[in-house]
Amino acid sequence: MKIIMLGAPGAGKGTQAKMIAEKYSIPHVSTGDIFRANIKNETPLGMEAKKYMDEGKLVPDELTVQILLDRVAKEDCANGYVLDGFPRTIPQAEVLNDALEKMGDKIDYAIDVAVPDENIVNRMSGRRACVTCGATYHIVHIPPKVENVCDKCGSNLILRDDDKPETVLNRLKIYHEQTQPLIEYYTAKGVLKTVDGTKDMKDVFADIVSILG
Ligand code: ADP
Ligand code: ADP
Ligand code: ZN
Repeated sequence: MKIIMLGAPGAGKGTQAKMIAEKYSIPHVSTGDIFRANIKNETPLGMEAKKYMDEGKLVPDELTVQILLDRVAKEDCANGYVLDGFPRTIPQAEVLNDALEKMGDKIDYAIDVAVPDENIVNRMSGRRACVTCGATYHIVHIPPKVENVCDKCGSNLILRDDDKPETVLNRLKIYHEQTQPLIEYYTAKGVLKTVDGTKDMKDVFADIVSILG
């Protein structure tokens, strides 16, 4: 099963993608996580990507596409995957589509996690991420058991640099300009499913499971 998560920054794509990955035993592939791992390890790719990420801009397609294609070519992706944060532009979607088509394959579902802009800044300013394992929490909606400590691995939680309100507004604007057109793109392909992302995390997941079966 090959699944794409669509939705604004902070809509809950990552939260749902992790649960999908666990339930259906497929890898969770997040381009944001790949970039952040590269930044942490100070690789050339990480240093380049950081310039864009800090400003809330998209990392250029030239840097993004090959990384994603290499990742999904790995053995563990043979039975499918859930993509979180890719594609974010029509050209990215087309590259993925062409690569799959060459193998006689296609995306099965594009799930749009719909959350209005008004809720997004709150979601992002409350988001806390684990520096070690990438787990995500929300200080009000999905708090860790101990404040600022990851439930899963015990590391510290941080507010991402790009989750500050100024940057979030920029990311939202770019989302509407460059990423939202993907909703029509996948509607035309007949694979778009929309879920109400304002519901409780567990209820959103139940809606997704009823789509995926
Ligand atoms: P969120 O889902 O909260 O928006 P991500 O972790 O998916 O955050 O992405 C963080 C940042 O990484 C983005 O704002 C962007 O700069 C960069 N990024 C991630 N995926 C892509 C992509 N497919 N294309 C371009 N830039 C990307
Ligand atoms: P995305 O990957 O789309 O950027 P995340 O999954 O990181 O979004 O979620 C953004 C923030 O909102 C996080 O702090 C997360 O814990 C929280 N969150 C996720 N789903 C919900 C939900 N259904 N209700 C309330 N908060 C949520
Ligand atoms: Zn952790």
